[in-house]
Amino acid sequence: MSVVFESMNKRGHEEVVFCHDQDTGLKAIIAIHNTTIGPALGGCRMWNYETEAEALTDVLRLARGMSYKAAIAGLNLGGGKAVIIGNAKTDKTETLFRSFGRFVEGLSGRYITAEDVGTSVKDMEWVRMETKYVTGISRALGGSGDPSPVTALGAFSGLKATVKHQLGKDSLVGLKVGVQGVGHVGYYLCKYLAENGAKLFITDIDTEALKRVVDDFGADVIGLDDIYSADLDIYAPCALGATLNDDTIPQLKCSIVAGAANNQLKDDTKHAQMLKDRGILYAPDYAINSGGLINVANEIEGYNRERAFRQAEGIYDMLMKIYSQADIDGVTTHEAASKVAEQRMREVGKLKNVYLPKKNVMGRRDNA
Ligand code: NAD
Repeated sequence: MSVVFESMNKRGHEEVVFCHDQDTGLKAIIAIHNTTIGPALGGCRMWNYETEAEALTDVLRLARGMSYKAAIAGLNLGGGKAVIIGNAKTDKTETLFRSFGRFVEGLSGRYITAEDVGTSVKDMEWVRMETKYVTGISRALGGSGDPSPVTALGAFSGLKATVKHQLGKDSLVGLKVGVQGVGHVGYYLCKYLAENGAKLFITDIDTEALKRVVDDFGADVIGLDDIYSADLDIYAPCALGATLNDDTIPQLKCSIVAGAANNQLKDDTKHAQMLKDRGILYAPDYAINSGGLINVANEIEGYNRERAFRQAEGIYDMLMKIYSQADIDGVTTHEAASKVAEQRMREVGKLKNVYLPKKNVMGRRDNA
């Protein structure tokens, strides 16, 4: 047990729930990192972890990441995440997810779940049979549906802010942008870039996905490894994590990295510093791709896609704030983003110093 508390203590987690149901075979861990600003929201990942320790480490790391993403996006949410230990291809059943839903319901709204790697909208619809604390439901059921157009607009807004700060330009006309991965988010990002006069260079392992972008917007296709050394103004990672590492950073000719992929830096501190040392402005991944979270957060208040799009455009101002903080402190943009997020958690937390009586059943405040 001391291992669990030690791990929680190191990164400031509030609560970890181990969920077990013999009948359905459910083995899940829900981690709540920080609820200073609001209920913890984060997806439920299903993965065949080799050990329970590996699952615990993953859920703690991911939950903390969500606190920072929500804080920086200006949402009234905290950070949490869940993992279900199992094979997403063979172990899924209705009862497994409904059982998970009952554990989520048991937390009475301290944690709100959603889909993630290994889980789908359909799985969340099973979860929803047991709890109202779930997002990422299909639009047909009143949910927010596919978040990628909102994520892409947010990433595009963040990319424009990065261009403004680094190059002093308001326009993207003629800028060469390399998009790595033209799947859900990458496709829409290419659309916005093409509409705004950028020149597209794209790469993907999926030739169909490449063809769609070439046909719809016009783009030059480049080799999978050539994206790093290509003559580009901007590199936009929209596929895998850890693409910014010891091998790739020295190859970059661009002066901007701005894309939607998660966990772009192989080693957060080291590789953020390497980019800074090379004069490359890096848009912190969890800030520039927070449109996806903004989209599901909207579902909590009653989904409105127009409002989600407008909020995602706010990523422009968010990144400008991070860049000026980084300049003032002389630190990497990664470090500045953490500082901005932590400051918001602290300041919003202090609002709770003002006492508000609890609402009674009549919706009035008790004079307790
Ligand atoms: P996706 O699976 O639809 O697209 C990823 C694309 O990358 C695919 O076309 C795939 O073929 C391609 N790809 C895989 N390996 C590659 C490689 N080695 N080189 C080049 N291309 C490769 O996923 P998505 O939903 O578009 O998400 C893309 C990234 O953005 C992921 O890192 C995801 O975590 C992150 N993200 C997505 C959202 C969202 O709303 N979908 C929100 C936040 C963050």
